Amino acid sequence: MFRSRFLWKLYAGYVLLILVFTAIVGFLIARQIEQDTLNEIQESLRTRAVLLRDAVIPSLSGHPDNALQKRVHKLGAEILTRLTVMDPNGKVLADSEEDPSRMDDHSNRPEILAAGSHGVGTAVRFSNTVRTRMMYVALPVHSQDRLMGFVRASLPLSAIDERLADLRATVALGAGVAAGVALLLGFFMARSFAAPLSSMTRVAESMSSGDYGAQLPVTRRDEVGDLALALNRMARSCKERMETITTDHNKLLAILAGMVEGVVAVDHEERVVHLNAVAAAILRGAPNASIGKKIWEVSRVPEVCEALSATLKDVKQTRRELRLVSPPRDQVVEMHASPLHNGDGKLVGAVLVLHDVTELKRLETVRRDFVGNVSHELKTPITAIRVLVETLLDDVDLDLVTRQRFLTKILDQTMRLSTLVTDLLNLSRLESKDTALEWGDVDLRDTAETASQALLPAAEVRGVEVEVLKPDSALEVRGDAEALRQVATNLLDNALKYTPRGGKVWLRLRADGPSAIIEVEDTGIGIEQRHQARIFERFYRVDKARSRELGGTGLGLSIVKHVVLAHGGEVSVVSKHGKGSTFRVRLPLSSAADARA
Ligand code: ADP
Repeated sequence: MFRSRFLWKLYAGYVLLILVFTAIVGFLIARQIEQDTLNEIQESLRTRAVLLRDAVIPSLSGHPDNALQKRVHKLGAEILTRLTVMDPNGKVLADSEEDPSRMDDHSNRPEILAAGSHGVGTAVRFSNTVRTRMMYVALPVHSQDRLMGFVRASLPLSAIDERLADLRATVALGAGVAAGVALLLGFFMARSFAAPLSSMTRVAESMSSGDYGAQLPVTRRDEVGDLALALNRMARSCKERMETITTDHNKLLAILAGMVEGVVAVDHEERVVHLNAVAAAILRGAPNASIGKKIWEVSRVPEVCEALSATLKDVKQTRRELRLVSPPRDQVVEMHASPLHNGDGKLVGAVLVLHDVTELKRLETVRRDFVGNVSHELKTPITAIRVLVETLLDDVDLDLVTRQRFLTKILDQTMRLSTLVTDLLNLSRLESKDTALEWGDVDLRDTAETASQALLPAAEVRGVEVEVLKPDSALEVRGDAEALRQVATNLLDNALKYTPRGGKVWLRLRADGPSAIIEVEDTGIGIEQRHQARIFERFYRVDKARSRELGGTGLGLSIVKHVVLAHGGEVSVVSKHGKGSTFRVRLPLSSAADARA
């Protein structure tokens, strides 16, 4: 309240107004009363002078004598007024308070001169005779149109001055009291104006500091009340808008944070205004610590700074590909930079979207390689078949033995094509999620039996001994019997293919804690360390020619890996070049799965 400058300004103006007004009114009242009093005294002195004139006319007609002095003295004492009688020349003939013989000539006194010329003369001045300020009223005395002399009545003004001083004091007191009351009322009035303003200021301040909940009490039905109502309405709508803005802002932040793309936004001075977690990871920066810093302080990637600078400079969208050499894996990032405009179309910054396309690029390469590999794998047998068929057609005289040999080769190539297509179909079925495996309880002992039985003739032809070691009790897993049989077959087939005559292959089955293990060990050629991680890739072969020669498609292990992964298991290899290999498949046992359930 007392801090309200508005109150004090309003009040100071009001105080000044009241004081000036009271001073002027007081002064005018005092002057009017003083004037009226003086007029009253003057009139009373004139009346007394008239009485004196009438009383002294007879004496002035004759010779003035001592009796005149006595009469004047007595009359003066009775009416408490100094009375003076003068002859036409101003010589004092009688005076109620002084000895006339000791008084000087009064002809040049202003009241006498005025009385002579105007019929009545008035003057106020200091009297040397009675040593005080006096009011004089003089009248000429005529008898039969002849000037007989002058009479004068006078009174000391000291008593009047005292009365006037009292009067002024009373007026001043009255004015003071009136001013005091007016000032007090004024203070309360100013306060009643200033108080709502102070509350409004408080509410406005709390609004500016983000608190929109404060409401003003509306106690008046005037403009101030209307203003309070308007402020309350404004606070409510501000609150609603702020809530909307905050919700939108949070939504936007959540969207930006949840985006798989990195987003960096900078202002027109290239200072970071937003950096989401993905962008921070790509640029190796900290999201929050980067805000307000120049982009080149945050990112060590010059292409990012360049893209943003160029967008701010040219005010147009740019798209670039960025290769980041960042161990453990290189990244390929697609950058889209766009200028940011405010509502008035003014450039306020730029936004850069970073899209990590490393996986996309990798998949593209894989797809390209795959198509290339498939085409190549298909082309070889097809070309062979075509050449053989062309020869058969061209040469009708071909002997029966050669013809038979050609036809056998065509059959081989057709078988090869068929195996390739079957493997490709199997692989694609395993890869497409919608092809459900036929789940059931599979005893791996049956799987091993079927696979080994199927491959025994081939083993005999190749001169490789196969030993199957299985537990006495069932080794059950949840899975697709056919797919699991293929796993065992592919591993056994590989072991036979890459084991020279006289070698040995073991197919072992055992339980290991919650897992079932299928192990295929051979005493074959083994796999060099550098190839071991890649042999599960499609079409990857250590020795292409050899694999082809042996009827391999390069897809066997890839199928094994997919089936095992689809069963929640894992496959690994341990091998020594020239000594042999051991492929190990680990699958969750049904009993372990049931226990978990
Ligand atoms: P392929 O049809 O060529 O056998 P796979 O996917 O089954 O294709 O195997 C990939 C490659 O892994 C083979 O070409 C071969 O070089 C190697 N490989 C697989 N199994 C063995 C093994 N038991 N001993 C040696 N090398 C093997």
